[in-house]
Amino acid sequence: MTQDCQNRRGKVYLVGAGPGDPGLITLRGAQCLAEADLVLYDYLVNPQLLEHVPAGAEQISLGHPHGGREMLQHEINERMVAAAQAGRTVVRLKSGDPHVFGRGAEEIEALAAAGIAYEVIPGVTAAFAVASHAGIPITHRDLASAVALITGHRRGDGAGQELDYEALARFPGTLVFYMGMTTAPQWSEALLRGGRSPDTPVAIVRRATWPDQETIRCTLGTMAQLIQERGIHPPAVIVVGEVVALAPQKPSV
Ligand code: SAH
Repeated sequence: MTQDCQNRRGKVYLVGAGPGDPGLITLRGAQCLAEADLVLYDYLVNPQLLEHVPAGAEQISLGHPHGGREMLQHEINERMVAAAQAGRTVVRLKSGDPHVFGRGAEEIEALAAAGIAYEVIPGVTAAFAVASHAGIPITHRDLASAVALITGHRRGDGAGQELDYEALARFPGTLVFYMGMTTAPQWSEALLRGGRSPDTPVAIVRRATWPDQETIRCTLGTMAQLIQERGIHPPAVIVVGEVVALAPQKPSV
């Protein structure tokens, strides 16, 4: 397992950090951190994971998207390429899985264009942590034979793929929305217009696997107003579907 991480210089590892609990990174991801000369990490990554990094390695926080200076994607790419060209082992530590709404492909494109060796180490994506930590099995052979991972975030420049909400409303399974808090009024309305029942069970799972995790239960019809009234903040995934009813009944927070 360690061979790829050891004694190889000038390589970039895109490592999934998992959803928050520092025990949920893979062994391989932790090993790569232990070999790193430079670590670039996202704001959602648990800083406790940096305990794997050797003393003396450079650690760069990429900043919060809404909290002042955030390193731009092209700056991140340039930094990784320059460090790898200088013979350093770079870990790009990304929350959850690098390829689930994580711009992993854009980073790989930049690395490949510069001829940099890279490797992707998967991570536990936020949607998959809701089963273990909020008791919501996202598939169930009687209730949900499919799962859709959906982003509620629209690209600022308006480019990118438009979502077909009528198709999503008819989707025969569980819908899991990432980055869907601020756009909840729009996408819930679109699902209702597409024919999803307002009584469809919904769970807002905030800070899954962190000590302050919260699960808020509601329905598709009441969700948007509840988010606004209670001032519920990201990061959260919103799970829409019958499987939510299987979660243990706890008072909502
Ligand atoms: N690559 C990440 C997703 C990054 S996009 C992954 O695979 O999980 C950021 C969004 O992920 C957040 O807005 C939120 O919707 C979700 N998210 C990340 N960590 C989360 C957590 N611990 N609990 C709930 N949602 C989380």
